[in-house]
Amino acid sequence: MATGACRCGQVSFTTASEPVRCGICHCMDCRARSGAPFIVFVIFPLAAVTIRGARRPVPSASGVREACATCGSMVCWIDDQTGEIELYAGLFSAPGLFKPEYEVWTLRREPWLPALQLAQYPRDRPKR
Ligand SMILES: [Zn+2]
Ligand SMILES: [Zn+2]
Repeated sequence: MATGACRCGQVSFTTASEPVRCGICHCMDCRARSGAPFIVFVIFPLAAVTIRGARRPVPSASGVREACATCGSMVCWIDDQTGEIELYAGLFSAPGLFKPEYEVWTLRREPWLPALQLAQYPRDRPKR
């Protein structure tokens, strides 16, 4: 079980299971939304995550994306196709809780950033 919160603390969450997977995304969409050169996402079954506090919807090409209504922290993306929810590693209460298993959209990796010793996918990870 892990806990996390947005920058202001108004939105918080608890996870009741181990993550399904954890990865790094370098895509232009994640870059622009976060303002950072890559994001670390942690995916759980939707039923295993409880979120409290007011969120606002953020436009998304698919699924449901939400941010804290007060401070604007990116909180989650819900994939309505798979019933999974993506939370961001930086929201969790401490570093070191999750370790990425792969990197996606490595085509967009910053040239100064070396690849980790993980599975590498130039674009999206192929569906299993
Ligand atoms: Zn907040
Ligand atoms: Zn991305």
